[in-house]
Amino acid sequence: MKKKLIAGNWKMNGSLAGNETLVKGLLAGLGSPACHVALCVPSIYLAQMQALLNGSAIDVGAQDVSPHEVGAYTGEISGAMLNEFGTRYVLVGHSERRQYHFETDALVASKAQRALACGITPIVCVGETLAEREAGKTEEVVKRQLAAVIHTNGHCISEIVVAYEPVWAIGTGKTASVEQAQQVHAVLRAQLKAATPQADRIHILYGGSMNAANAAQLLAQPDIDGGLVGGASLKAADFLSIIASAL
Ligand code: PEP
Repeated sequence: MKKKLIAGNWKMNGSLAGNETLVKGLLAGLGSPACHVALCVPSIYLAQMQALLNGSAIDVGAQDVSPHEVGAYTGEISGAMLNEFGTRYVLVGHSERRQYHFETDALVASKAQRALACGITPIVCVGETLAEREAGKTEEVVKRQLAAVIHTNGHCISEIVVAYEPVWAIGTGKTASVEQAQQVHAVLRAQLKAATPQADRIHILYGGSMNAANAAQLLAQPDIDGGLVGGASLKAADFLSIIASAL
């Protein structure tokens, strides 16, 4: 069985001093985790993370990457730049970027492509809003979002990580039930299986108010291969407890 992956998403939180305290707390309690662990941090802190996490069991992750290789794209950060700071993962298509930065499925797919071209694993986020769930459109939405990435990335698709994050569960304290989460994960797995014979090696993470109390049950589902954790990744004890549940 593949090792699970627990990735923290710090979003736009942190400070030099606070990051150091949090990471030191994590490293002090981590031991030899049974799962892969990553922290997706604001890009301005990548150099600090590279120094703090060097040689540890925690990989460095970023929260966005430009779809462009190089050039006149003010404010953007390229995959090659992320690489220089030891970045192993990058989130693409997080619902906050789809919502506040109007990222389309096609843009998310090209960001995933750029990450792969730079040897960085994209964590492709998909998920339905509450209105879409209530309209019975959950499957249609997540399949459309993933299809764009499959279409653009062809045989490289086995190199991605997928995160199913129901938008209504992000930062709200409302978690999808284990049945709801597993059902969507199974749909995504079937879609990946139709695209690649290596679909079983792809990690499909659940994200949306995962915490120390609900992680073990979610992570015990057959198609849930880990978690993308927002709020609870900002507290060392909570994040360590989630990591310890990922067996
Ligand atoms: C996220 O931002 O990816 C997330 C899952 O946040 P939270 O865990 O806070 O719901």
